[in-house]
Amino acid sequence: MTVSVRRHVAALKPDELPAYVYDLAALREHAAAVRATLPDRVELYYAAKANPETPVLTALREAVDGYEVSSGGELAHVRQAVPDAPLAFGGPGKTPVEIAAAVDAGVHRWHVESEQELHRLAAVLAERPGVAVDVLLRVNLTLGAGTLDAVTLAMGGRPTPFGLDPDRAEECARLLTGDSPLGRQLRLRGVHAHLASGLAATEQLAVAEQIVDWSAALAERLGFPLDEVNVGGGMAVDYEDPSARFDWTAFGEGLAKLLDAYPGLTLRIEPGRALTAYCGWYATEVLDVKRSHGEDFAVVRGGTHHLRTPATRGHSQPFEVLPVDAWPHPWPRPAVTTGRATLAGQLCTPKDVLARAADGADGMRAADRVLFTMAGAYAWNISHHEFLMHPRPGFHYLGG
Ligand SMILES: *Cc1c(COP(=O)(O)O)cnc(C)c1O
Repeated sequence: MTVSVRRHVAALKPDELPAYVYDLAALREHAAAVRATLPDRVELYYAAKANPETPVLTALREAVDGYEVSSGGELAHVRQAVPDAPLAFGGPGKTPVEIAAAVDAGVHRWHVESEQELHRLAAVLAERPGVAVDVLLRVNLTLGAGTLDAVTLAMGGRPTPFGLDPDRAEECARLLTGDSPLGRQLRLRGVHAHLASGLAATEQLAVAEQIVDWSAALAERLGFPLDEVNVGGGMAVDYEDPSARFDWTAFGEGLAKLLDAYPGLTLRIEPGRALTAYCGWYATEVLDVKRSHGEDFAVVRGGTHHLRTPATRGHSQPFEVLPVDAWPHPWPRPAVTTGRATLAGQLCTPKDVLARAADGADGMRAADRVLFTMAGAYAWNISHHEFLMHPRPGFHYLGG
Protein backbone atom coordinates (compact mmCIF):
# COMPACT_ATOMS: atom_id res chain seq x y z
CA MET A 1 0.00 0.00 0.00
CA THR A 2 1.15 3.53 -0.58
CA VAL A 3 2.14 5.72 2.37
CA SER A 4 -0.86 8.00 1.98
CA VAL A 5 -3.25 5.06 1.89
CA ARG A 6 -1.71 3.50 4.99
CA ARG A 7 -1.95 6.78 6.90
CA HIS A 8 -5.48 7.38 5.80
CA VAL A 9 -6.75 3.93 6.73
CA ALA A 10 -4.97 3.96 10.08
CA ALA A 11 -6.84 7.16 10.97
CA LEU A 12 -10.34 5.86 10.13
CA LYS A 13 -12.68 4.84 12.93
CA PRO A 14 -13.96 1.24 12.94
CA ASP A 15 -17.41 2.45 11.90
CA GLU A 16 -15.89 4.18 8.88
CA LEU A 17 -14.87 0.75 7.61
CA PRO A 18 -15.08 -0.89 5.21
CA ALA A 19 -13.91 1.79 2.83
CA TYR A 20 -12.68 1.98 -0.71
CA VAL A 21 -9.57 4.12 -0.78
CA TYR A 22 -8.13 5.31 -4.07
CA ASP A 23 -4.75 6.88 -4.60
CA LEU A 24 -5.40 9.19 -7.53
CA ALA A 25 -1.85 10.52 -7.55
CA ALA A 26 -0.57 6.96 -8.01
CA LEU A 27 -3.19 6.40 -10.73
CA ARG A 28 -2.13 9.52 -12.63
CA GLU A 29 1.50 8.49 -12.38
CA HIS A 30 0.80 4.94 -13.59
CA ALA A 31 -1.34 6.12 -16.51
CA ALA A 32 1.27 8.67 -17.55
CA ALA A 33 3.96 5.97 -17.45
CA VAL A 34 1.81 3.71 -19.64
CA ARG A 35 1.18 6.56 -22.08
CA ALA A 36 4.91 7.27 -22.27
CA THR A 37 5.63 3.74 -23.51
CA LEU A 38 3.24 4.05 -26.46
CA PRO A 39 4.27 5.35 -29.88
CA ASP A 40 2.62 8.52 -31.17
CA ARG A 41 0.38 6.65 -33.55
CA VAL A 42 -1.18 4.62 -30.75
CA GLU A 43 -4.20 6.13 -29.03
CA LEU A 44 -4.99 5.12 -25.49
CA TYR A 45 -8.64 4.82 -24.51
CA TYR A 46 -9.79 3.77 -21.06
CA ALA A 47 -12.52 1.11 -20.91
CA ALA A 48 -14.87 2.79 -18.44
CA LYS A 49 -16.55 -0.43 -17.33
CA ALA A 50 -13.44 -1.36 -15.32
CA ASN A 51 -14.15 1.51 -12.91
CA PRO A 52 -16.40 4.40 -13.91
CA GLU A 53 -16.15 6.48 -10.73
CA THR A 54 -15.95 10.15 -11.58
CA PRO A 55 -12.68 10.93 -9.74
CA VAL A 56 -11.06 7.95 -11.49
CA LEU A 57 -12.25 9.10 -14.92
CA THR A 58 -11.07 12.63 -14.20
CA ALA A 59 -7.67 11.51 -12.93
CA LEU A 60 -7.09 9.61 -16.17
CA ARG A 61 -8.07 12.48 -18.44
CA GLU A 62 -4.57 13.82 -19.03
CA ALA A 63 -3.02 10.47 -19.96
CA VAL A 64 -5.77 9.07 -22.18
CA ASP A 65 -7.02 10.07 -25.63
CA GLY A 66 -10.56 9.02 -24.87
CA TYR A 67 -12.88 6.55 -23.16
CA GLU A 68 -14.60 3.40 -24.34
CA VAL A 69 -18.20 3.14 -23.14
CA SER A 70 -20.48 0.15 -23.56
CA SER A 71 -23.97 1.33 -22.64
CA GLY A 72 -26.19 4.38 -22.76
CA GLY A 73 -25.67 4.71 -19.00
CA GLU A 74 -21.88 4.77 -19.31
CA LEU A 75 -22.13 7.15 -22.23
CA ALA A 76 -24.20 9.70 -20.27
CA HIS A 77 -22.06 9.31 -17.16
CA VAL A 78 -18.67 9.59 -18.85
CA ARG A 79 -19.84 12.51 -20.97
CA GLN A 80 -20.76 14.35 -17.79
CA ALA A 81 -17.56 13.41 -15.91
CA VAL A 82 -15.15 14.33 -18.72
CA PRO A 83 -17.22 16.48 -21.10
CA ASP A 84 -14.57 17.16 -23.72
CA ALA A 85 -13.26 13.60 -24.07
CA PRO A 86 -13.70 11.56 -27.25
CA LEU A 87 -15.85 8.47 -26.70
CA ALA A 88 -15.93 5.13 -28.44
CA PHE A 89 -19.27 3.38 -28.11
CA GLY A 90 -19.19 -0.43 -28.10
CA GLY A 91 -21.04 -3.33 -26.59
CA PRO A 92 -23.50 -5.92 -27.85
CA GLY A 93 -27.24 -5.28 -27.64
CA LYS A 94 -27.40 -1.52 -28.13
CA THR A 95 -31.05 -0.46 -27.95
CA PRO A 96 -32.63 1.92 -30.47
CA VAL A 97 -32.91 4.57 -27.74
CA GLU A 98 -29.22 4.19 -26.83
CA ILE A 99 -28.24 4.40 -30.48
CA ALA A 100 -30.20 7.60 -31.02
CA ALA A 101 -28.79 9.13 -27.82
CA ALA A 102 -25.24 8.27 -28.84
CA VAL A 103 -25.72 9.74 -32.32
CA ASP A 104 -27.05 12.93 -30.75
CA ALA A 105 -24.17 12.98 -28.27
CA GLY A 106 -21.76 12.85 -31.20
CA VAL A 107 -19.66 9.88 -30.12
CA HIS A 108 -16.26 9.75 -31.73
CA ARG A 109 -16.28 6.09 -32.84
CA TRP A 110 -18.93 3.42 -33.21
CA HIS A 111 -17.97 -0.17 -32.61
CA VAL A 112 -20.59 -1.98 -34.65
CA GLU A 113 -21.27 -5.45 -33.27
CA SER A 114 -23.77 -6.95 -35.73
CA GLU A 115 -25.38 -6.53 -39.12
CA GLN A 116 -28.67 -5.54 -37.57
CA GLU A 117 -26.94 -2.94 -35.44
CA LEU A 118 -25.54 -1.42 -38.61
CA HIS A 119 -29.07 -1.16 -40.01
CA ARG A 120 -30.46 0.25 -36.76
CA LEU A 121 -27.74 2.87 -36.76
CA ALA A 122 -28.41 3.68 -40.41
CA ALA A 123 -32.14 4.04 -39.64
CA VAL A 124 -31.41 6.54 -36.85
CA LEU A 125 -29.10 8.46 -39.18
CA ALA A 126 -31.69 8.47 -41.98
CA GLU A 127 -33.84 10.64 -39.70
CA ARG A 128 -30.91 13.02 -39.32
CA PRO A 129 -29.87 14.02 -42.81
CA GLY A 130 -26.45 15.61 -42.90
CA VAL A 131 -25.22 13.75 -39.81
CA ALA A 132 -22.43 11.23 -40.34
CA VAL A 133 -20.65 8.89 -37.94
CA ASP A 134 -17.32 7.06 -37.92
CA VAL A 135 -17.51 3.32 -37.69
CA LEU A 136 -15.23 0.47 -36.75
CA LEU A 137 -16.53 -3.04 -37.35
CA ARG A 138 -15.96 -5.26 -34.35
CA VAL A 139 -14.70 -8.57 -35.58
CA ASN A 140 -14.52 -11.85 -33.71
CA LEU A 141 -11.40 -12.98 -35.45
CA THR A 142 -10.17 -16.54 -35.53
CA LEU A 143 -6.65 -16.41 -34.20
CA GLY A 144 -3.79 -18.63 -35.21
CA ALA A 145 -3.45 -21.85 -33.23
CA GLY A 146 -1.64 -21.34 -29.94
CA THR A 147 -2.09 -17.55 -29.77
CA LEU A 148 -4.47 -17.61 -26.83
CA ASP A 149 -3.41 -20.67 -24.87
CA ALA A 150 -2.86 -19.04 -21.51
CA VAL A 151 -5.86 -16.77 -21.42
CA THR A 152 -8.41 -16.43 -18.63
CA LEU A 153 -11.34 -14.74 -20.38
CA ALA A 154 -11.54 -15.30 -24.11
CA MET A 155 -14.32 -13.34 -25.80
CA GLY A 156 -13.20 -14.00 -29.32
CA GLY A 157 -11.89 -16.70 -31.61
CA ARG A 158 -14.74 -18.94 -30.45
CA PRO A 159 -18.54 -18.70 -30.32
CA THR A 160 -19.51 -15.57 -28.35
CA PRO A 161 -22.18 -12.83 -28.52
CA PHE A 162 -19.46 -10.27 -29.33
CA GLY A 163 -18.70 -8.76 -32.68
CA LEU A 164 -19.05 -10.12 -36.19
CA ASP A 165 -17.66 -13.31 -37.63
CA PRO A 166 -14.98 -12.44 -40.18
CA ASP A 167 -17.19 -13.22 -43.20
CA ARG A 168 -20.07 -11.14 -41.79
CA ALA A 169 -17.69 -8.28 -41.03
CA GLU A 170 -16.61 -8.42 -44.64
CA GLU A 171 -20.25 -8.28 -45.72
CA CYS A 172 -20.83 -5.23 -43.49
CA ALA A 173 -17.72 -3.58 -44.88
CA ARG A 174 -19.10 -4.19 -48.36
CA LEU A 175 -22.32 -2.40 -47.36
CA LEU A 176 -20.33 0.66 -46.34
CA THR A 177 -17.86 0.94 -49.20
CA GLY A 178 -18.04 1.63 -52.92
CA ASP A 179 -21.17 3.50 -54.03
CA SER A 180 -23.25 2.16 -51.18
CA PRO A 181 -25.88 4.66 -49.96
CA LEU A 182 -25.21 3.53 -46.36
CA GLY A 183 -21.62 4.68 -46.71
CA ARG A 184 -22.68 8.32 -46.97
CA GLN A 185 -23.67 8.58 -43.32
CA LEU A 186 -21.57 5.71 -41.99
CA ARG A 187 -17.89 6.26 -42.65
CA LEU A 188 -15.95 3.02 -42.37
CA ARG A 189 -12.70 3.93 -40.62
CA GLY A 190 -11.45 0.46 -39.80
CA VAL A 191 -11.75 -2.50 -37.48
CA HIS A 192 -12.13 -3.12 -33.77
CA ALA A 193 -11.38 -6.33 -31.93
CA HIS A 194 -11.23 -7.19 -28.26
CA LEU A 195 -10.53 -10.87 -28.16
CA ALA A 196 -9.33 -11.76 -24.72
CA SER A 197 -8.47 -10.61 -21.23
CA GLY A 198 -5.37 -11.46 -19.25
CA LEU A 199 -2.78 -11.36 -22.02
CA ALA A 200 0.93 -10.77 -21.45
CA ALA A 201 2.70 -8.34 -23.78
CA THR A 202 4.00 -10.96 -26.23
CA GLU A 203 0.53 -12.51 -26.57
CA GLN A 204 -1.05 -9.10 -26.93
CA LEU A 205 1.36 -8.27 -29.71
CA ALA A 206 0.69 -11.55 -31.51
CA VAL A 207 -3.04 -10.82 -31.33
CA ALA A 208 -2.59 -7.19 -32.45
CA GLU A 209 -0.52 -8.25 -35.41
CA GLN A 210 -3.13 -10.75 -36.56
CA ILE A 211 -5.94 -8.19 -36.20
CA VAL A 212 -4.03 -5.56 -38.17
CA ASP A 213 -2.95 -7.97 -40.92
CA TRP A 214 -6.51 -9.24 -41.31
CA SER A 215 -7.88 -5.68 -41.39
CA ALA A 216 -5.33 -4.56 -43.97
CA ALA A 217 -6.17 -7.53 -46.20
CA LEU A 218 -9.88 -6.71 -45.89
CA ALA A 219 -9.27 -3.06 -46.78
CA GLU A 220 -7.26 -4.10 -49.78
CA ARG A 221 -9.90 -6.56 -51.02
CA LEU A 222 -12.62 -3.94 -50.73
CA GLY A 223 -10.53 -0.95 -51.72
CA PHE A 224 -11.12 1.31 -48.73
CA PRO A 225 -8.40 3.18 -46.86
CA LEU A 226 -7.67 1.57 -43.51
CA ASP A 227 -7.36 4.52 -41.10
CA GLU A 228 -7.62 2.80 -37.76
CA VAL A 229 -7.48 -0.49 -35.97
CA ASN A 230 -8.51 -0.82 -32.36
CA VAL A 231 -6.86 -3.92 -30.91
CA GLY A 232 -8.80 -3.85 -27.64
CA GLY A 233 -7.86 -4.18 -23.98
CA GLY A 234 -7.22 -7.18 -21.79
CA MET A 235 -3.65 -6.44 -20.71
CA ALA A 236 -2.78 -8.90 -17.96
CA VAL A 237 -3.12 -8.14 -14.28
CA ASP A 238 -1.63 -10.81 -12.03
CA TYR A 239 -3.54 -11.15 -8.74
CA GLU A 240 -1.16 -13.90 -7.62
CA ASP A 241 1.75 -11.51 -7.82
CA PRO A 242 0.73 -7.93 -6.97
CA SER A 243 4.21 -6.63 -7.82
CA ALA A 244 4.09 -7.97 -11.40
CA ARG A 245 3.15 -5.53 -14.14
CA PHE A 246 2.18 -5.88 -17.78
CA ASP A 247 5.31 -5.15 -19.82
CA TRP A 248 4.18 -1.87 -21.36
CA THR A 249 7.66 -1.08 -22.66
CA ALA A 250 7.87 -4.29 -24.70
CA PHE A 251 4.30 -3.79 -25.85
CA GLY A 252 4.97 -0.21 -26.99
CA GLU A 253 8.10 -1.30 -28.86
CA GLY A 254 6.20 -4.11 -30.55
CA LEU A 255 3.41 -1.77 -31.61
CA ALA A 256 5.97 0.65 -33.03
CA LYS A 257 7.37 -2.16 -35.16
CA LEU A 258 3.92 -3.15 -36.29
CA LEU A 259 3.17 0.46 -37.25
CA ASP A 260 6.38 0.64 -39.31
CA ALA A 261 4.78 -1.82 -41.71
CA TYR A 262 1.63 0.34 -41.97
CA PRO A 263 2.40 3.99 -42.51
CA GLY A 264 -0.71 6.13 -42.12
CA LEU A 265 -2.41 3.69 -39.78
CA THR A 266 -3.50 4.71 -36.29
CA LEU A 267 -3.73 2.00 -33.67
CA ARG A 268 -5.91 2.26 -30.61
CA ILE A 269 -5.91 0.24 -27.42
CA GLU A 270 -8.56 0.27 -24.71
CA PRO A 271 -7.35 -1.28 -21.46
CA GLY A 272 -9.45 -1.12 -18.32
CA ARG A 273 -8.15 -3.39 -15.58
CA ALA A 274 -4.43 -2.80 -16.20
CA LEU A 275 -4.92 0.96 -15.78
CA THR A 276 -6.99 1.14 -12.59
CA ALA A 277 -6.61 -2.16 -10.69
CA TYR A 278 -3.57 -1.00 -8.74
CA CYS A 279 -4.93 2.35 -7.52
CA GLY A 280 -7.73 1.03 -5.31
CA TRP A 281 -7.82 -0.65 -1.88
CA TYR A 282 -10.74 -2.15 -0.03
CA ALA A 283 -9.92 -1.48 3.60
CA THR A 284 -11.64 -3.14 6.49
CA GLU A 285 -11.09 -4.62 9.94
CA VAL A 286 -11.15 -8.09 11.38
CA LEU A 287 -14.36 -8.50 13.41
CA ASP A 288 -13.76 -12.00 14.63
CA VAL A 289 -11.37 -14.91 14.38
CA LYS A 290 -12.51 -18.45 14.97
CA ARG A 291 -11.37 -22.01 14.53
CA SER A 292 -13.71 -24.24 12.54
CA HIS A 293 -12.98 -27.94 12.25
CA GLY A 294 -9.28 -27.28 12.49
CA GLU A 295 -9.06 -24.22 10.21
CA ASP A 296 -8.90 -20.55 11.13
CA PHE A 297 -11.39 -18.07 9.75
CA ALA A 298 -11.06 -14.30 10.02
CA VAL A 299 -14.41 -12.59 9.53
CA VAL A 300 -14.06 -9.02 8.27
CA ARG A 301 -16.51 -6.14 8.04
CA GLY A 302 -17.99 -6.15 4.57
CA GLY A 303 -17.36 -8.89 2.05
CA THR A 304 -17.94 -9.93 -1.53
CA HIS A 305 -21.09 -7.75 -1.77
CA HIS A 306 -18.56 -4.89 -1.87
CA LEU A 307 -15.62 -6.68 -3.48
CA ARG A 308 -16.91 -9.42 -5.73
CA THR A 309 -13.70 -9.72 -7.71
CA PRO A 310 -12.30 -12.81 -5.91
CA ALA A 311 -15.67 -14.59 -6.08
CA THR A 312 -16.12 -13.91 -9.80
CA ARG A 313 -12.60 -14.86 -10.75
CA GLY A 314 -12.15 -17.64 -8.22
CA HIS A 315 -8.96 -16.19 -6.81
CA SER A 316 -7.76 -15.03 -3.40
CA GLN A 317 -7.68 -11.25 -3.32
CA PRO A 318 -4.19 -10.12 -2.26
CA PHE A 319 -4.12 -8.17 0.99
CA GLU A 320 -1.86 -6.46 3.48
CA VAL A 321 -2.37 -6.29 7.22
CA LEU A 322 -2.22 -3.11 9.24
CA PRO A 323 -1.80 -4.34 12.84
CA VAL A 324 -3.78 -2.47 15.50
CA ASP A 325 -2.26 -2.95 18.94
CA ALA A 326 -5.06 -1.51 21.02
CA TRP A 327 -7.50 -4.09 22.44
CA PRO A 328 -9.87 -2.33 24.83
CA HIS A 329 -11.97 -5.35 25.82
CA PRO A 330 -11.73 -7.49 28.99
CA TRP A 331 -12.11 -10.78 27.06
CA PRO A 332 -9.32 -12.58 25.22
CA ARG A 333 -8.44 -11.27 21.79
CA PRO A 334 -9.05 -13.93 19.16
CA ALA A 335 -6.14 -14.52 16.79
CA VAL A 336 -5.07 -16.77 13.94
CA THR A 337 -2.81 -19.48 15.35
CA THR A 338 -2.72 -22.16 12.64
CA GLY A 339 -0.37 -20.23 10.34
CA ARG A 340 -3.08 -19.32 7.84
CA ALA A 341 -6.71 -18.25 7.70
CA THR A 342 -9.56 -17.86 5.28
CA LEU A 343 -10.75 -14.26 5.14
CA ALA A 344 -14.53 -14.30 4.94
CA GLY A 345 -17.08 -11.49 4.88
CA GLN A 346 -20.34 -10.93 6.76
CA LEU A 347 -22.65 -12.63 4.28
CA CYS A 348 -24.52 -15.79 5.21
CA THR A 349 -23.16 -17.81 2.33
CA PRO A 350 -20.04 -19.96 2.12
CA LYS A 351 -19.24 -18.12 -1.13
CA ASP A 352 -18.44 -14.93 0.75
CA VAL A 353 -14.70 -15.56 0.77
CA LEU A 354 -12.16 -12.85 -0.04
CA ALA A 355 -9.01 -14.93 0.41
CA ARG A 356 -8.76 -18.64 1.08
CA ALA A 357 -6.29 -20.31 3.46
CA ALA A 358 -3.97 -17.33 3.18
CA ASP A 359 -0.49 -17.51 4.75
CA GLY A 360 -0.49 -13.73 5.03
CA ALA A 361 -3.14 -14.02 7.73
CA ASP A 362 -0.77 -15.72 10.16
CA GLY A 363 -1.05 -14.03 13.56
CA MET A 364 -3.96 -11.84 12.47
CA ARG A 365 -6.08 -10.66 15.40
CA ALA A 366 -9.56 -9.25 15.82
CA ALA A 367 -9.47 -5.45 15.30
CA ASP A 368 -6.45 -5.62 12.99
CA ARG A 369 -7.01 -3.82 9.72
CA VAL A 370 -6.85 -5.52 6.35
CA LEU A 371 -6.30 -3.75 3.07
CA PHE A 372 -7.28 -5.76 0.03
CA THR A 373 -5.07 -4.55 -2.77
CA MET A 374 -5.69 -4.43 -6.53
CA ALA A 375 -9.27 -3.37 -5.85
CA GLY A 376 -9.39 -0.48 -8.30
CA ALA A 377 -11.00 -2.36 -11.20
CA TYR A 378 -14.03 -4.63 -11.52
CA ALA A 379 -14.51 -4.38 -7.77
CA TRP A 380 -17.26 -2.23 -6.23
CA ASN A 381 -19.06 -1.70 -9.53
CA ILE A 382 -19.51 -5.41 -10.27
CA SER A 383 -20.63 -6.35 -6.73
CA HIS A 384 -24.10 -7.32 -5.46
CA HIS A 385 -24.49 -4.41 -3.04
CA GLU A 386 -28.00 -5.09 -1.76
CA PHE A 387 -27.56 -8.70 -0.69
CA LEU A 388 -28.12 -8.87 3.11
CA MET A 389 -28.51 -5.09 3.49
CA HIS A 390 -25.21 -4.31 5.15
CA PRO A 391 -24.14 -0.65 5.02
CA ARG A 392 -22.24 0.59 1.99
CA PRO A 393 -18.53 1.26 2.27
CA GLY A 394 -17.11 4.75 2.41
CA PHE A 395 -15.29 6.15 -0.63
CA HIS A 396 -12.10 8.10 -0.20
CA TYR A 397 -10.08 9.67 -2.99
CA LEU A 398 -6.56 10.69 -2.04
CA GLY A 399 -4.26 12.91 -4.07
CA GLY A 400 -7.13 14.33 -6.15
C1 LIG B 1 -13.97 -5.02 -21.07
C2 LIG B 1 -13.50 -4.49 -22.34
C3 LIG B 1 -12.27 -3.83 -22.41
C4 LIG B 1 -11.33 -3.72 -21.25
O1 LIG B 1 -10.85 -4.96 -20.86
P1 LIG B 1 -9.74 -5.06 -19.69
O2 LIG B 1 -9.55 -6.52 -19.51
O3 LIG B 1 -10.34 -4.39 -18.50
O4 LIG B 1 -8.53 -4.36 -20.17
C5 LIG B 1 -11.90 -3.28 -23.62
N1 LIG B 1 -12.71 -3.38 -24.71
C6 LIG B 1 -13.90 -4.03 -24.67
C7 LIG B 1 -14.72 -4.10 -25.89
C8 LIG B 1 -14.33 -4.60 -23.50
O5 LIG B 1 -15.49 -5.26 -23.47
